[in-house]
Amino acid sequence: MYGLALGLAIPVVVVVVLLVAGARSGDRFERIARCRAGHLFTSTVVPGASLKAVRLGRVRFQRCPVGNHWTLVRWVDVSTLTPEEISQAHERHDVSIP
Ligand SMILES: [Zn+2]
Repeated sequence: MYGLALGLAIPVVVVVVLLVAGARSGDRFERIARCRAGHLFTSTVVPGASLKAVRLGRVRFQRCPVGNHWTLVRWVDVSTLTPEEISQAHERHDVSIP
């Protein structure tokens, strides 16, 4: 009987641990954004929470750390950027609060 109970319990524990770990690592992630002036920078994204930007659908109104101005910002698909643009974006990071 113990064998059967363990056989059922272990997969359940593994699934729960994976879900918790996945939820944690998925809470915050970094994305490259481009402002209307064309500045590229990295921004931390926390789904469902945004204190520093006003969300307008896919566009956000926030402060650009490159040009030091308030602007509309869009997320950039990394695959459309050159390696130079990606490293340039990673050099500039907006404030670390979401
Ligand atoms: Zn800018």
